[in-house]
Amino acid sequence: MTKELTIIGAGPAGMTAALFATRGGAQVTLIDGNPSVGRKLLVTGAGRANLTNRELNANRYASADPAWLESVFTRFGYAELIAFLESVGVLTYTTHDGWCYPLSESAQTVVDAFAAALDEAGVRLLLDHKVISIRNIGVNQTEGFEVGFKTQRPHTCDNLLVAAGGAAYPTLGSRGQLFPILASLGHTVIPPRPALAPLTCDMTPWQALQGVRLDANVKLYEGSQLLAETTGNLIFTAWGLNGPAVMDLSHHVSARPGANLRLELNPLFASEAALRALLREKHNSPTPLAVILGAVLPPKLPPVLIKMAGFAPDVRVNQVPQKALPYLFALLTALPFTVTGTRGFEFCQVSAGGVPVSEVDPLTMRSLKVPNLLLAGETLDVVGPCGGYNLHFAFSTGALAGMGL
Ligand SMILES: Cc1cc2nc3c(=O)[nH]c(=O)nc-3n(C[C@H](O)[C@H](O)[C@H](O)COP(=O)(O)OP(=O)(O)OC[C@H]3O[C@@H](n4cnc5c(N)ncnc54)[C@H](O)[C@@H]3O)c2cc1C
Repeated sequence: MTKELTIIGAGPAGMTAALFATRGGAQVTLIDGNPSVGRKLLVTGAGRANLTNRELNANRYASADPAWLESVFTRFGYAELIAFLESVGVLTYTTHDGWCYPLSESAQTVVDAFAAALDEAGVRLLLDHKVISIRNIGVNQTEGFEVGFKTQRPHTCDNLLVAAGGAAYPTLGSRGQLFPILASLGHTVIPPRPALAPLTCDMTPWQALQGVRLDANVKLYEGSQLLAETTGNLIFTAWGLNGPAVMDLSHHVSARPGANLRLELNPLFASEAALRALLREKHNSPTPLAVILGAVLPPKLPPVLIKMAGFAPDVRVNQVPQKALPYLFALLTALPFTVTGTRGFEFCQVSAGGVPVSEVDPLTMRSLKVPNLLLAGETLDVVGPCGGYNLHFAFSTGALAGMGL
């Protein structure tokens, strides 16, 4: 008998599952509330789609169970994804630091390739079909489901994969609407919260730096407790900080509403020794301190930091007392920010929360709670850092769901 799979969600997870399931001989129906497939994939990586990362590692993800993730990536890791993408017609390249993109530099070509592959594979598409209910019913003497829509007639199926994303960036289709339904079917659902979101901060002392971009080591504290640390690029804005270095910390912030949270930015994480050496060499020189700091910092930063350290704007190196240096370096290596929150679901790239991986078989993505139900992608409670980790998780769990049918 031909196997049959219905999938809710034509994102990276659902589309990948559909292609693997048809390769295994299954008949596949792919449902999405959007009028086209891969709507969110289209905007990833600022339109370039950062598809995966060569440094893929289960420990880089925020998940209750790295061993579960390790099991997924052992079966569908970086090499397996590159080969699969190639089979779909997507050629890739990887930067020196491991971030992988399509050779075309265009997410649109990736979505087009997936759409063509789904068509060739004979996947039945039900687009513009917004799912509002899932009922567990008996079909052909086995467990089965009736999927209800806002306007169209219901659809029944034997096997159902929910790959409907999370609650991030709701304008692109995923709003977490299926979480209450999954809970009613018997799954635990951890309430979704923003992750990979820009951070809102008290920017009063930093207004002059709007638009400045730099690399920094960033530490997040609750009171005196260090919660997490990242190193990467960030940008100063009117409302706070944006960019991978702070976005990677945001799931800790959204988990602690109202907490006393602060950041310490170290823009000298790679150049402190060089700056110290330059200051030693020039300690008798009338060179403006701003010029020396400008050797290692973006030009808008030195005037702000010199003022914060209590010096005159035109202070010269030979006017800076040796005993003031420890204080100066303490400031330069730990620029203080009070964190007030995240920019919310509207501006985040993924949501934390959803169904815990402990309720899903890592080999097949089959639900351990509901027979013939499968789960993949962002619907599960896993958050990766910026760098292609979240698309990899969606592709790999989708692949295993499609293979395991
Ligand atoms: C701006 C932005 C940039 C990003 N850039 C990157 C990046 O470069 N690299 C990276 O790794 N990750 C990136 N991400 C994260 C990445 O897009 C997600 O991790 C990934 O799309 C999750 O895939 P998914 O298939 O699980 O869910 P989704 O892509 O969200 O797909 C789920 C699909 O389900 C459909 N759906 C939901 N509910 C229903 C319903 N009730 N009825 C019918 N259909 C429904 C939705 O319409 C959607 O098409 C980015 C995210 C955003 C928002």
